[in-house]
Amino acid sequence: MHYCKCALYVSSAVILLDSKAQQTELEWISSPPSGWEEISGLDENYTPIRTYQVCQVMEPNQNNWLRTNWIEKGDAQRIFVELKFTLRDCNSLPGVVGSCKETFNLYYQETDVEVGRNIRESQYVKIDTIAADESFTQGDLGERKMKLNTEVRIIGPLSRRGFYLAFQDVGACIALVSVKVYHKKCWSIIENLATFPDTVTGSEFSSLVEVEGTCVNDAEEEADNSPKMHCSAEGEWLVPIGKCICKAGFHQKGDACEPCGRGFYKSSSQDLQCSRCPAHSYNDREGSWRCDCEDGYYRALSDPPSVACTRPPSAPQNLLYNINHTTVSLEWTPPADTGGRNDVTYRIICRRCTWEPEECFSCGSNVGYLPQQSGLMDTYVTIADLLAHANYTFEVEAVNGVSDLSRTQRLFAAVSITTSQAAPSQVSEVMRERVQQHSVQLSWQEPEQPNGVITEYEIKYYEKDQKDRIYSTVKSKSTSATVNNLKPSTAYIFQIRAFTAAGYGTFGPRVEVTTKEESTGSGEQNSICETAILSFFFFYFLLIVKFPGTKTYIDPETYEDPNRAVHQFAKELDASCIKIERVIGAGEFGEVCSGRLKLPGKRDVSVAIKTLKVGYTEKQRRDFLCEASIMGQFDHPNVVHLEGVVTRGKPVMIVIEYMENGSLDAFLRKHDGQFTVIQLVGMLRGIAAGMRYLSDMGYVHRDLAARNILVNSNLVCKVSDFGLSRVIDDDPEAVYTTTGGKIPVRWTAMEAIQYRKFTSASDVWSYGIVMWEVMSYGERPYWDMSNQDVIKAIEEGYRLPAPMDCPPGLHQLMLDCWQKDRADRPKFDQIVGILDKMIRNPNTLKTPMGTCTRPISPLLDQNTPDFTSFRLVSEWLEAIKMERYVDNFTAAGYSSLESVARMTIEDVMSLGISLVGHQKKIMSSIQTMRAQMLHLHGTGIQV
Ligand code: AMP
Repeated sequence: MHYCKCALYVSSAVILLDSKAQQTELEWISSPPSGWEEISGLDENYTPIRTYQVCQVMEPNQNNWLRTNWIEKGDAQRIFVELKFTLRDCNSLPGVVGSCKETFNLYYQETDVEVGRNIRESQYVKIDTIAADESFTQGDLGERKMKLNTEVRIIGPLSRRGFYLAFQDVGACIALVSVKVYHKKCWSIIENLATFPDTVTGSEFSSLVEVEGTCVNDAEEEADNSPKMHCSAEGEWLVPIGKCICKAGFHQKGDACEPCGRGFYKSSSQDLQCSRCPAHSYNDREGSWRCDCEDGYYRALSDPPSVACTRPPSAPQNLLYNINHTTVSLEWTPPADTGGRNDVTYRIICRRCTWEPEECFSCGSNVGYLPQQSGLMDTYVTIADLLAHANYTFEVEAVNGVSDLSRTQRLFAAVSITTSQAAPSQVSEVMRERVQQHSVQLSWQEPEQPNGVITEYEIKYYEKDQKDRIYSTVKSKSTSATVNNLKPSTAYIFQIRAFTAAGYGTFGPRVEVTTKEESTGSGEQNSICETAILSFFFFYFLLIVKFPGTKTYIDPETYEDPNRAVHQFAKELDASCIKIERVIGAGEFGEVCSGRLKLPGKRDVSVAIKTLKVGYTEKQRRDFLCEASIMGQFDHPNVVHLEGVVTRGKPVMIVIEYMENGSLDAFLRKHDGQFTVIQLVGMLRGIAAGMRYLSDMGYVHRDLAARNILVNSNLVCKVSDFGLSRVIDDDPEAVYTTTGGKIPVRWTAMEAIQYRKFTSASDVWSYGIVMWEVMSYGERPYWDMSNQDVIKAIEEGYRLPAPMDCPPGLHQLMLDCWQKDRADRPKFDQIVGILDKMIRNPNTLKTPMGTCTRPISPLLDQNTPDFTSFRLVSEWLEAIKMERYVDNFTAAGYSSLESVARMTIEDVMSLGISLVGHQKKIMSSIQTMRAQMLHLHGTGIQV
């Protein structure tokens, strides 16, 4: 049999009849009764047995039948019949004749029930003729030796409930020692963790019975591989196929599945063994398919149970940033602890913060991230489209697969950044105001995002059909311009861009305009007329460009009824349009609050609301509203704008545009050192423009100081604090002087202190002090010197030195503002021009390192030589131990100390003095020399 080799278990037979096992009489049927005979005997082991014998050899024609009792076959189909017998050798029988036989026949009869005791031969089916292999033989000594024969025959397939066996003797000498009838069965076994039940063999000798196994407890069938075995006809289990495996949490021990112990797990039935819990995980139950993470450790959804539990990474390190206008780039190094994972990426959280109130908002989708905001694989990102002059906080967080599972505090690196100024946005709305033969007048809207104060517009134009496209440009300080000297009947293309301290914006869209045809005859007259109109417009244009303040300031005191003055200049607001939100400061007349103003049909705006406290006198009310009467006359981007007043209700209120960053001095002190020189100059330019407007209107401020400048969220500075006498009464800096009246001494020009000569020129002096305050980030002018000492020092010609890192050009402008003779001081218009020039040429604002450090002695350093006592350049160079450069100075034509005092750092460098240390030393000495000369002559030196 080809599969015998792989037989697993030899079956046990199921015995249906065993004659040897029966001690009592078998009582089989013998026919004729004289034939087979039941005899008791002993077997070869001398065990008592029942046997049947027949030995009718002497007589011919024997036909002796012996039939067993009915044998119930059960579920068997193939029955084995094992016979043990002895048979006499006819030769050994003396005197027997030819009738002696040496075989007998085996029969069976199938029935469903027991039948009678009669044997009807015809109903029996012959199984075989049984012959002896051995027979009685004569021994050497003449004794007879008995040889036992064993023969097995198989019957089947059987289909009835039972059967009889029958033995036919035809004249032999037989002793039937034992008859055993059995069938074979595959007994229940566990193989491959599957239980296979007791199985009866098949009916055919060659047939196999396929049996499905059942998995033992806590085991499951392997996928697509259910357990099967085959029960062979021999009762042997053959050809196992498929198997069961222990479920997750259990492992195999012998033929059973046992739970994994504590601290162990088995995540899948596929795994063979339980494994110890991976790092940072544990379990305290048996039979676990996974281990739980320790506190603070997590497993990502995609993490298999076999990996260690991990945690979020620590913060990125060494976060660096770089600001370029409104673009910020960030760079960092990876976190020290990756949390045990290698899937660390980075994400950026951007918040924009306002200073007052200190609030931060998410940047939202207005900001662009390159390459992206989160999932950054590299340690850098660029963030663009930020607002100009805004304060941002960027958090860089390292994240890994378990960051979002963690409830512990986020770890991140953060920087706070203030963006610098962005160039203005495009000028897009351009109107053709007047088109002539030789000129075109255009007007336009201010760009949507000026991002600062627009100082100028540039109009670029060219002939549309001209091949070379040679451009011409025209500049305008207002939002309209006339372009002259054009050809008639010609199509021109115009584009406009705006200029602020941050530079030029991009040109707006192309606007095509075709000039009028050349006319003749009466047209000439027209043309003359048009020219006249054009000249008028040109003049008007010049007027608005040059003298934007066409109105004149009217002193509210000149009104008999101050209420009329207020309503002449200020809009009466309905109190229901105003929502007061919180108190932001204290004014002389009552609280200053912030809130919102919603006028019908308009967007609501943030406002500051000055209130008049209850119980005021009529004079206080008048003085309070006086500020509104003054402010209401002004309309300039650098002068605080009045929204209106509430006089017909209580409290009486003045509603002003809201300036998010409060007063300039406090603002600068809070952000000490945080702005670029260009930004500071941008602020100064704004203040100067506001003052130019006020002075053009004939208004003298009298209390110009950084504390009276307000700053909005775009860093635009606006002049504020208007009033008459009360402004100064209100100012804590103001002190009574010998001339009577209160004066903020440190900010005030000498002629105003001495004989109350307040003019725009004295405002220019104060402006110089504001410049100094701005460049020193809110330092107190003249530090802790007493007012008396300040007056004395100024009278003696001392002036404030340049603040730290202040470009020399700016300090020079301050000195010019502090000219003793007010006629020598620059006008605000000139100041604006100088500052614009500096902004346009930022190189002039470069500070040679070390030239502007704050001197130890505030006004003059007494230990330095008095350079004014030298006459020759060589003497001076010797005094500062730089005599080696005498020839350089002479060759370049610097023959007098006056000419040396005018030198700039560029001049010094152009002499061929290449050592930076020497450049600094010479420049520093030139500055001292200038201050000394100023002291001596009471005059500034124009650089
Ligand atoms: P004043 O009475 O004008 O000196 O105002 C008192 C304080 O209120 C000032 O120092 C500012 O801090 C604040 N304040 C006044 N006006 C405004 C405004 N328009 N916007 C924001 N804060 C203001």
